[in-house]
Amino acid sequence: MDDCLFCKIARKDIPAALVYEDDHLLAFKDIFPQAPVHLLIIPKAHCESLGDLTPEIAAATARIPQVAAKLAAEQGVQASGWRLLSNNGPDAGQSVFHLHFHLLGGKPLGAKLCV
Ligand code: AMP
Ligand code: ZN
Repeated sequence: MDDCLFCKIARKDIPAALVYEDDHLLAFKDIFPQAPVHLLIIPKAHCESLGDLTPEIAAATARIPQVAAKLAAEQGVQASGWRLLSNNGPDAGQSVFHLHFHLLGGKPLGAKLCV
């Protein structure tokens, strides 16, 4: 999509601190990190949220936990613990409408999943 921020990052039209790339997935550092490790993992193809998956994007997205585990190990938080989550829609606070998963770690993240 022309005006989608994460599509622009996937096309390399705007820069990001990339930490992983394959044919269908991309991971980069969140620009406003909320933890010492805060990465975003996205399918390169545009899809607004988990409610809009096509079979092709679903197949790529199904590999995200595996990629997240590899990145967590590389970032040194495999043993200390990490969280993988996706905000979908307004009540979840989604602010970029291209499907993405946050990988957070490097400090105690708290027990609450919502306020
Ligand atoms: P969400 O609120 O779940 O939609 O998450 C969107 C995330 O994208 C936020 O954590 C932002 O800090 C992050 N973000 C916004 N713009 C950029 C950017 N240009 N590069 C990297 N991360 C970004
Ligand atoms: Zn997009």
